[in-house]
Amino acid sequence: MADTTRRGGCNCGKVRIELRGEPLRTGLCHCLTCRRETGGAFMAFAVWDASQVSVAGETASWTATTDHRHFCPACGSSLFGTHDGDTEVEVRLGALDDAPSGLLPDYELWTRRREHWQQPVAGAAQHGGNRP
Ligand SMILES: [Zn+2]
Ligand SMILES: [Zn+2]
Repeated sequence: MADTTRRGGCNCGKVRIELRGEPLRTGLCHCLTCRRETGGAFMAFAVWDASQVSVAGETASWTATTDHRHFCPACGSSLFGTHDGDTEVEVRLGALDDAPSGLLPDYELWTRRREHWQQPVAGAAQHGGNRP
């Protein structure tokens, strides 16, 4: 459904996000950087092209190599990542208003860091490190 619109934002409401159309892909990342960013055991995200994403409000970001991780400077909620060299926006599933989001992970990254109590997502491609 090309006309699907999803909305999200941070806990305090100063940043709002609108996502038009279905994501290009959906994934989980278990890497150390994503664990620290979210404060959780893994990060769940979905990727849209920047042309399908609108962001209202100021974000702050922290850069790990070519990877810019945006969050709300007022409440600290993680929101999305952008990367040098592409126009994709990796939106944190936890930033979406609808929970559950209904989006299913296509793949998992850094499975070698996955907590032992967590099972692989059925049908999702499994990568020990980054996406090949
Ligand atoms: Zn906020
Ligand atoms: Zn990661």
